Amino acid sequence: MAETLHPRVLVVGGGPGGYVAAIRAGQLGLDTVLVEAGRLGGTCLTRGCIPSKALIHAADKFADMTQGSALGIAIDQPPRLDFARTVGWKDGIVDRLSNGVAGLLGRAKVRVVAGWARFSDAKSCTVETASGAVAITAEHVILAAGSEAAALPALPFGGDVISSTEALSLPELPARLVVVGAGYIGLELGIAFRKLGAAVTIVEAADRILPRYDVALTRPVRRWLARAGIELHLGATVTGRDGDNRLAVETTAGPLVLAFDKILVTIGRRPLVAGWGLEEMALDMAGPFVKVDDRCHTAMRDVWAIGDLVGEPMLAHKAMAQGAMVAEIIAGQRRHFDPGGVAAIVFSEPEIVVAGLLPDEAAVAGIDAATAIFPFAANGRALTLEAGADGGFVRVVARRDDQRIIGIQAVGRHVAELAGEFAHALAMGAVLDDLAHTIHVHPTLGEAAGEAALLGLGHAIHL
Ligand code: FAD
Repeated sequence: MAETLHPRVLVVGGGPGGYVAAIRAGQLGLDTVLVEAGRLGGTCLTRGCIPSKALIHAADKFADMTQGSALGIAIDQPPRLDFARTVGWKDGIVDRLSNGVAGLLGRAKVRVVAGWARFSDAKSCTVETASGAVAITAEHVILAAGSEAAALPALPFGGDVISSTEALSLPELPARLVVVGAGYIGLELGIAFRKLGAAVTIVEAADRILPRYDVALTRPVRRWLARAGIELHLGATVTGRDGDNRLAVETTAGPLVLAFDKILVTIGRRPLVAGWGLEEMALDMAGPFVKVDDRCHTAMRDVWAIGDLVGEPMLAHKAMAQGAMVAEIIAGQRRHFDPGGVAAIVFSEPEIVVAGLLPDEAAVAGIDAATAIFPFAANGRALTLEAGADGGFVRVVARRDDQRIIGIQAVGRHVAELAGEFAHALAMGAVLDDLAHTIHVHPTLGEAAGEAALLGLGHAIHL
């Protein structure tokens, strides 16, 4: 064995869950080793959140130039897309952020071991590194192995069948893209590729897009898909190939064949539980996920698990929050994790923000709640951003008895940046009065949140 290490804390996986856990543990003075087989930053930074948002931004810029506008701005020559350069620009951002994570880990005095960890028991693993095997036995183990794209049995990944990872690094723009799965990843990428000029078809087995969200919230996105010429097949399942570059789909109206250059399969992600010795660790499972309590502790003493490995929502900020929390618990602090505080954004066209309970979810939970909706059509800033006419709104869900806000959602262009205010209101246990009487800066989209709360109180000003 080239080397043997005995740190206080071993973190496996350098995604947002793992690297944040390691940085926080290092800040708290815990001797910490982080093992990562790929690049620091994990799925989110190298092939998920960041590269997808870079591509979406580039697609927005390109679409703005190609579509002309009512603003009196015209471009005489049609703009040209150098897709390889777009991907190169995106890669530059990834490089910069991944190197930044390495710097932060170094500052926190975390030792990074590059290679794949394989456990022989719950506290011991071996990592094959470029310079030989490293054996690590730790007092505390934080598992942050993340997740991988789920494949369709009839359409395994490879060649022209790609996951989001390959979609974010294509050498050229596919002329015809079929997206299988209208969850947030499929929609975000499908919309971006459409804006870049690809002909996009979306196939979804459920009877609506973003099946976890209600129809009111997704209606503006449905409208945009139709306007943009994206072919959408709901209640449709892929049965397999029908010759080269032809995909067989079963729809409620009968069989269908779709021509494609690439098929992007985005039917969900599953936790990465194979290939690193989970079976040697005697942990309990919750379905496909590692089972943890509200402190992210597993069934094995001093073995912790965080992020995509432990369940929904499979989001980077949840992984980060859990990572920091576990490091603080190991350092002796009293913490627990509240999943209700995790907001989510769909970077679609227009964008969707969901924080707390949807009206339907409140009803299912037996909460007597009132809902107030303020449209962006009545918000000046939305109009100046060409964002007022897409049917967008802010919706506040509050308990009838004490007016406590239990959910805030929005759909509309540029609403992503409202997520912080929504999450903050929920985290602080705000009531309608708190949000309504916060003086929102004019002109901003945030005013719509204040107005929705005022509406909940029965006296919106601008409606
Ligand atoms: P990961 O980020 O998956 O990191 C796990 C790391 O562990 C990987 O780097 C892997 O190499 C390493 N690893 C695993 N096993 C071992 C081992 N045995 N030895 C060594 N290393 C190992 N989330 C958002 O919040 N916002 C978004 O906008 C968003 N957009 C997304 C877009 C796409 C296209 C995708 C695919 C995902 C997106 N996500 C987004 C989800 C987000 O990426 C994940 O929720 C997040 O990365 C989970 O973090 P994690 O630390 O649990 O795992």
